Amino acid sequence: MKNILTCVILVASSLSADAGVSIATWKGNALAAYTLTHDDSYRPDQEIMGNALTERGLVGTFFVNPGKCWDTAEYGWTRPPKEVFTEFAAQGHELGSHTMWHQSVMYDQGLSYAFANEQELRDDCIQTKAILDELNQKSTQSIGYPWGGVSAASQAVVADYFLTGRVSGWGQTNDVSPDNMYTIKTYTCGASSPVPINFGDYDVCTATFSQYVDKTLASGGWGIEQYHDLNTTYKLNPEAYFEHLDVLQNKQATNELWIATEGDVSRYVYSRSAATVENIQSDAEVLKFRVDDFLDDSLFDVPLTIMVEVPQAWTTAEQFLVSKNNETRSAKKVVEDNTVYAVFDSLANAGLITLYPNFVAVGLSGDLNGDGSVSSRDLDLVRANWTVVLPAKLSTGDANGDGYVGSADLDLVRSNWGARSVMSVPEPAAVILLLGGILAAWHMRRR
Ligand SMILES: [Zn+2]
Repeated sequence: MKNILTCVILVASSLSADAGVSIATWKGNALAAYTLTHDDSYRPDQEIMGNALTERGLVGTFFVNPGKCWDTAEYGWTRPPKEVFTEFAAQGHELGSHTMWHQSVMYDQGLSYAFANEQELRDDCIQTKAILDELNQKSTQSIGYPWGGVSAASQAVVADYFLTGRVSGWGQTNDVSPDNMYTIKTYTCGASSPVPINFGDYDVCTATFSQYVDKTLASGGWGIEQYHDLNTTYKLNPEAYFEHLDVLQNKQATNELWIATEGDVSRYVYSRSAATVENIQSDAEVLKFRVDDFLDDSLFDVPLTIMVEVPQAWTTAEQFLVSKNNETRSAKKVVEDNTVYAVFDSLANAGLITLYPNFVAVGLSGDLNGDGSVSSRDLDLVRANWTVVLPAKLSTGDANGDGYVGSADLDLVRSNWGARSVMSVPEPAAVILLLGGILAAWHMRRR
């Protein structure tokens, strides 16, 4: 994967030229990405933490030691049973490898607590992946290094099995496109931080959490928190912790942060970095293009957020529509620095994407020529443009604004047949009468 990442960055810089199609830095065009990671599976702490995330609609990554957790009775009572992890995965959390027995991956450093050699590390990668794949119901692509470190040699081995490796500490935000996906940095949450922070104290804990979030938002990069237990060895202040989750829930709702698992953010980074845009057609009516990352779709299954700077003539459209594989969806209309974008999610390698404006105002029904009544003149518009596609306009018979003129539009005209819009063009006198009526009604209600 390393090779792919390096060569793609070159391609990415040539992106977004012609038709103004670009890939958002983060999914949903969020300002920054954020990941909550949890090591060593403390019980009951991480059951509480995982459930607290789920309750708030958040997802996290849990770095698990399958050997310690459920393969022996030795640790069984201090680690959650397998069912807990199965449940976590079902709730959208990611289970990452923390090796079977918490050995350091640095087999080449002469450490007593590390794998003895390269083969041991390889065997462990294969074993934990197989176990976790079954629970994740998808390919496990994240490893968190036990004891926090990785060497150049062990990194190269890990890269044969995983897309991303997380170290401990460092107190840094990761770049938008990290140079090295196998030394992903974290913010420590709990008393094990390299620089001692009193996480047990409510005020200190709260201030530190908001610092992490602020630093991430300011950088626009990828912030990762690293947790262990809640209030035993690592001494977090639980009240501050739960309030922090509330803050994150809010940042997710306002789309400031894209909060996702380490595996999904990594997949997005790879896919975004590899993505190329091919413009097929670009005119006043329609934009046609492809977005491809040429990566393995079974592994890279996180949709990209695509932003299209729309032509000037489209900026007054009510919304934009995206057609792909015979399916039409609406795109979000986003205005940034006076530029209008159509924003939508799409997997890479999804074939031809067609984007067009929808000028049809929401709430109109069947009055295609805007003369205030639904009549044969509207029916004529539907018939004249029958099966014509794009762009969505009332004046070309597209009554429901889906970009196609067909039986759905005919139905809409028919079902409103004979309807008249009494308010279509109010005369000044009528407005005064109407106002008078409203005032009278209001006056009466107040009595
Ligand atoms: Zn650990």
